[in-house]
Amino acid sequence: MPVSVFAAQSFRDHEQVVFCHDRASGLKAIIAIHDLTLGPALGGCRMWRYDSDDEALDDVLRLSRGMTYKSAMAGLSFGGGKAVIIGDAKRDKSPALFEAFGRFIDSLGGRYITAEDVGTSPADFEIVRRQTRHVAGIAEGGSGDPSPATAWGVFHGLRAAVEFRLGRDDLNGLTVAIQGLGHVGWALAEHLRKAGARLVVTDIDAARLAAAKAELGASVVDPEAIYDVEADVFAPNALGAVLNDDTIARLKVAVVAGSANNQLAEDRHGAVLHRRGILYAPDYVINAGGIINISYEGPRYSQDAAFAHCARIHDTLAELFARAGQADLPTNEMADRLAEERLAHAREARPLKVVAR
Ligand code: NAD
Repeated sequence: MPVSVFAAQSFRDHEQVVFCHDRASGLKAIIAIHDLTLGPALGGCRMWRYDSDDEALDDVLRLSRGMTYKSAMAGLSFGGGKAVIIGDAKRDKSPALFEAFGRFIDSLGGRYITAEDVGTSPADFEIVRRQTRHVAGIAEGGSGDPSPATAWGVFHGLRAAVEFRLGRDDLNGLTVAIQGLGHVGWALAEHLRKAGARLVVTDIDAARLAAAKAELGASVVDPEAIYDVEADVFAPNALGAVLNDDTIARLKVAVVAGSANNQLAEDRHGAVLHRRGILYAPDYVINAGGIINISYEGPRYSQDAAFAHCARIHDTLAELFARAGQADLPTNEMADRLAEERLAHAREARPLKVVAR
């Protein structure tokens, strides 16, 4: 069966889909530009062993649309795009492959700006940058590791959720169950600790758990037990699909607010959380700090300005929770609705497309 773009499950009015093949290096990649209403499409490039071209296409279509919504909700002048390289990140990488990828990016003239994602690294993108300037988030001339900005945004989003659901404007004495103490989870744990929260943490890395106990006074539980912890907030910062039929039934929290991507196993789990009275901070809204930080990249990069923008995730979520409350809608549905509203306003105000800068 040939791959069909327009009939693909995740096709939603995408503006451009580019299939890239370079015979010499073996590169096979797909670039999807979902929407350019707000600006050039920004989004990472994954390298993954897809079982089929259809699966790769579906992933890049779904992820690129997610980026449109993420940028719209973060108030950024970027559209949504994403790229996938079909291959094994451990076996199939070569400088020639990333150079070829860079030439394809360059051929789009800035309509799509690429960045690191699952399976790719800053070193790969140093190679891509030899062929194109349309690369974001790399060390030299870039804004560096996005994780501190992401954690700062999640911290403020979590505060907004606590205010709305628990009527508290401080975190003193609240218990937060944290899943994953990696780049984002650890930084978030530090902010929460400083704000007076009690931490119950888990990770699959014993050294991180020992450090959390010693340095943050955290209580430690086994990875599988984190869903059963009695707490005010559950903060997932490790894996996707952690909010599913099994785990949601076990949660004993009022709020879910964390950095992990694709937290809902399926969209309908937003409604399951809503019915259980658990306030969910939609992942792509609360974890936008990294992309916000990237948007400030350039010779005049100011960490203060970028972090102040990340902190405004608090206000975005406060509005979202209020609107979802009035409409009695799950918060993930309201997030999509608000993002679509923002895009519709922008289209009305500016009917001509913005392309490359
Ligand atoms: P990371 O790899 O640094 O940290 C993940 C942590 O989770 C690690 O400490 C790992 O040991 C732990 N972990 C893995 N499996 C686990 C399990 N079953 N139970 C408990 N812990 C487990 O990643 P990160 O950069 O901190 O990102 C965390 C999440 O946030 C990811 O889902 C990522 O996609 C998302 N995210 C990150 C950023 C960013 O700026 N880094 C931005 C947006 C979204």
